[in-house]
Amino acid sequence: MNVYDGERMTEMFAGQGMVQVENGKEADLVVLNTCHIREKAAEKVYSDIGRLRRKDGSSPMIAVAGCVAQAEGKEISKRAPSVDIVVGPQAYHRLPDMVAHAQSGKRSVDTDMPAISKFDIMPPRTKQPRPTAFLTVQEGCDKFCTYCVVPYTRGAEISRPWADLINEAKALVDGGVSEITLLGQNVNAWTGEDEKGQMHGLDGLIRALDKIDGLKRIRYTTSHPNDMTDALINAHGEIESLMPYLHLPVQAGSDRILKAMNRSHSRDSYLHILDKMRKVRPDIALSGDFIVGFPGETDQDFADTLSLVKQVRYAQAYSFKYSPRPGTPAAIMDNQIAPEIMDERLQALQALLNEHQHDFNKQSVGRTASILFERTGKLDGQLIGKSPWLQSVHVIAPGLKIGDLADVKLVDSGPNSLTGELINILDKE
Ligand code: SAH
Ligand code: SF4
Repeated sequence: MNVYDGERMTEMFAGQGMVQVENGKEADLVVLNTCHIREKAAEKVYSDIGRLRRKDGSSPMIAVAGCVAQAEGKEISKRAPSVDIVVGPQAYHRLPDMVAHAQSGKRSVDTDMPAISKFDIMPPRTKQPRPTAFLTVQEGCDKFCTYCVVPYTRGAEISRPWADLINEAKALVDGGVSEITLLGQNVNAWTGEDEKGQMHGLDGLIRALDKIDGLKRIRYTTSHPNDMTDALINAHGEIESLMPYLHLPVQAGSDRILKAMNRSHSRDSYLHILDKMRKVRPDIALSGDFIVGFPGETDQDFADTLSLVKQVRYAQAYSFKYSPRPGTPAAIMDNQIAPEIMDERLQALQALLNEHQHDFNKQSVGRTASILFERTGKLDGQLIGKSPWLQSVHVIAPGLKIGDLADVKLVDSGPNSLTGELINILDKE
């Protein structure tokens, strides 16, 4: 979502005649779009600010945007006096005014969550630099997992209106995009009314997007198990442009820990969703998020996480050490886990997840897959694109270019990517 927000900010500034530069030190304005989800991500902003200092001691104008700005507000300018602007994730449409204000030498801080959506004020989408794009459809979270800052930094769950999303998706496709990933902190909590006043869940929105000419692939992330409706699961069996990939975080495999996390799903209810999904879409690639070392996590609880992973065999996954976040209930729970134990558990979990990811790639060898080319490779005539299952695939494809779609035979696999051979060009611009 920060990538999406960053792109919208860039488009907003481009509309005012600004251009992007490669090196932050050469810029007149640097926007650091920050993440507060774990301590490490939040601390990064302060080292980045330090790195922007030029040889003569001056700095560009610095705006800290995103969730660190939301959570730490005025503290940021105290800790880092070279920061001129602090703007939360729901107020970044005000950046141009804040820049003007800062030019007169005044600092400004805006961490409001205004009633008027920033999306109503943003300029329309224009020509896109890549064939794939993000589209935020939902923001915020009402679930209050006990470890998580998102409900505090991004605010309550809101769904962007139907017509705005259809229009933005059409503008992206007109701008050269053929794959859209719908985004939300809980993207599958999206609901909205179509032009006839009928209510829909995310599956309804996907069905409408599927009808846009030129939009070849639809993905969505991140989903919450509790919002995984049968209608959305069934859509995977019916809509060809909906890619066979589901990122569905579980966090832990022990019911005791899930309860302490306030996840409001159990190990079994989670596994049941995956069963239903595999029935309608047997080739679905599954992905998840895991936290190790949540307060009170015993060896047995952690063993339950490993056993869940063995049962599911994820195609890909993200895993993190629990990071206590200020203001969250878990940060003051008893039995915080020692860092060495967290390290050990994370290593064991990641070894297993990597093995499964490699297995998934190995099993793909021999398959034919449509590949959407996203960038050039190191070799002559080589392009790198994504398979429907979100694997990176390297192909020697002379005459083809970024944005083209081709049928490729997958011939070799590594832990992080595959090699393919061109068999059929599906769509060439
Ligand atoms: N809404 C999504 C996740 C959004 S946050 C869901 O509930 O599934 C992205 C991921 O960051 C989470 O899935 C979780 O694994 C991780 N995360 C959130 N807070 C964390 C914390 N305090 N410490 C470590 N990881 C955390
Ligand atoms: Fe955070 Fe996701 Fe839980 Fe919401 S549902 S509190 S975003 S982990």
